[in-house]
Amino acid sequence: MTTNLLDFDLEGLARFCERLGEKRYRAVQLFRWVHQKGASDFEAMSDLAKSLREKLKAAAHVRAPDVISEHISADGTIKWLFDVGEGNAVESVFIPEVDRGTLCISSQAGCAMGCRFCSTGHQGFSRNLRTGEIIAQLWFAEHFLRKHLQRTERVISNVVLMGMGEPLQNYAELLPALRTMLDDHGYGLSRRRVTVSTVGIVPKMDLLAEQCPVALAVSLHAPNDALRDKLVPLNRKYPLVELLAACERYLAFAPRDFITFEYCMLDGVNDQPEHARELVALLSGHSNRSGWCKLNLIPFNPFPESGLHRTSSEQIVAFASILTDAGIVTTIRKTRGDDIDAACGQLAGDVMDRTRVGERIARQRSVTLIPAAALDQTLEEA
Ligand code: SAH
Ligand code: SF4
Repeated sequence: MTTNLLDFDLEGLARFCERLGEKRYRAVQLFRWVHQKGASDFEAMSDLAKSLREKLKAAAHVRAPDVISEHISADGTIKWLFDVGEGNAVESVFIPEVDRGTLCISSQAGCAMGCRFCSTGHQGFSRNLRTGEIIAQLWFAEHFLRKHLQRTERVISNVVLMGMGEPLQNYAELLPALRTMLDDHGYGLSRRRVTVSTVGIVPKMDLLAEQCPVALAVSLHAPNDALRDKLVPLNRKYPLVELLAACERYLAFAPRDFITFEYCMLDGVNDQPEHARELVALLSGHSNRSGWCKLNLIPFNPFPESGLHRTSSEQIVAFASILTDAGIVTTIRKTRGDDIDAACGQLAGDVMDRTRVGERIARQRSVTLIPAAALDQTLEEA
């Protein structure tokens, strides 16, 4: 088995080059070939010495997981399903907009967090993705799109970790992937344009702040512990007071001066006016500085096993008004890619029926991907 170079950030690649008996600076050239040019054939890396190319051919490869399917929506949204082996698959969604291109990527096959309203959560946890499998989603999509759109410049300007899985539960593999996204020799994305969405793993939020403070979105979904305990089981471990304190600590490092809270609107569950008022009290009680957070209301994407329903648009707007009237910047997420099941939040993921190994079933549960940065729509626009 040779080494997949997508598993390394630049520092990791430098160490790999040293192990091959090469100077560290060679890693910069190699990293640029792989991530900036999308090259996977060492022979094509013309400015590398022949001896190095030979060593690489013997010891390494550059490979993304196979694409199982690609769906293109009428609105230009593209969804890819990647085969990550043993019956597991993960999805990525590209959302083009006039001024940006956002890629929503997955961090795990399945998820162990078990949130009530999430189809990935209902599926359970299969495994963590490796660094190479996380960055491969960007590597593949960026270079595929450049080729397809005949562009030589960057197509993807924003990345959101809002696909399948809880990114901070897979911190060790996530970190090198984030560093590669930010690296000027990699994708050169600004920290403001890379967003990690978390359900609130407090110690890992602190670690991220210290080691790689990208934009942060926190999945809140309830204004009090009793309700959040039910919707987001992790709340029992890290209740709201601890979660909000971690958000405040994160703010000191954050590339933007606010945290985004995501709130999935569930009919009759967390969407009543009193919930909005409780939310106002919770969020305004937490920091003296106004504007320290933004709220993003997500229309729930129903799936049969959930037994839950989507709040009506009128009610979402009414809920949002209570928040905006209290001075909390609130947006309502617009869904994209509905016709290809790429609209907001969960990912289908597993495509192989594990009871009939080898047979692929396109078990396309409703796919929800939440590219907050790309899809937010202000109330004024709504
Ligand atoms: N695990 C991380 C990131 C992946 S989920 C997290 O929970 O933040 C990305 C977003 O999709 C989260 O805000 C999550 O609450 C939302 N989501 C999950 N299921 C959904 C559904 N059925 N409808 C709408 N949004 C959903
Ligand atoms: Fe996991 Fe996020 Fe789904 Fe919760 S909402 S189960 S943390 S993917």
